[in-house]
Amino acid sequence: MADTTTGVVAAPAAATPARVSTMLGGLATAEHLDRSDLLAGQRSGQVGSVHSWELVTAVDGPGTRMTTFLAGCPLRCLYCHNPDTMSAARGVPVFADDLLARIRRYRGVFRATGGGITLSGGEVLQQPAFARRILRGAKEMGIHTAIDTSGFLGRNADDAMLDDVDLVLLDVKSGDEDTYKAVTGRTLAPTLEFGRRLAERGIETWIRFVLVPGLTDGDANVGRVAAYAASLPQVTRVEVLPFHQMGRDKWTELGMDYALTATQAPSAADVERARDIFRAHGLTTY
Ligand code: SF4
Repeated sequence: MADTTTGVVAAPAAATPARVSTMLGGLATAEHLDRSDLLAGQRSGQVGSVHSWELVTAVDGPGTRMTTFLAGCPLRCLYCHNPDTMSAARGVPVFADDLLARIRRYRGVFRATGGGITLSGGEVLQQPAFARRILRGAKEMGIHTAIDTSGFLGRNADDAMLDDVDLVLLDVKSGDEDTYKAVTGRTLAPTLEFGRRLAERGIETWIRFVLVPGLTDGDANVGRVAAYAASLPQVTRVEVLPFHQMGRDKWTELGMDYALTATQAPSAADVERARDIFRAHGLTTY
């Protein structure tokens, strides 16, 4: 997922980003299942590993959204502000039907605000069967759907799943292969490939890019992301997200090494400079 903690995303228009964190509030867990039933449920998508959910406004897509953070991610982003979502084992098993029942309760809010649901993480495409069920169920209720993904596991999204996705928030963490590897520990190509597939299918896409001083903020690197975004006709927006240190304590609590202790947040001028590079490619950028 992108790094979009409250107040970090520059909201479109005059809207003020807001998050109401609930963790798993109100959701029953499937922790009572024995191991074999749990595995069977996960395989079928009836059970997913969920970290938390929250209601958000002006982030994670249009309108008021119920964003659900799934647990488990194949990337290891140096700036991850939710490192506790990296491991699927840290999530809580939740029945898809229970999550859908919760989503149903907010239909009126979604309708009134032009919002919907967003599946984030962790990495939503690490649990494709569960995601497929939630997205299908939401579409059956007439709810707008978004997924927030790095695209690294894009091949896990079959065409049927993508038919139920209205918007993809595609996190392009670098335009330069070596930098991508340094930031995430993984390769860039699957992300680029997934974005092109979304173009073929005409699925609206917002590109998200985290600006990290000394890591991703080189003009050439930003320019590569911008050129890629501009090559995709379905991209309607780019969000440049300034790096921040809000996740640092979680890394410490989890006993994980945090490499960006000395890295400062970019200045407002640096962020605007990066946004201008995107704008120069004709992209609507926030
Ligand atoms: S490690 Fe995974 S969850 Fe964390 S920022 Fe990267 S893609 Fe998102």
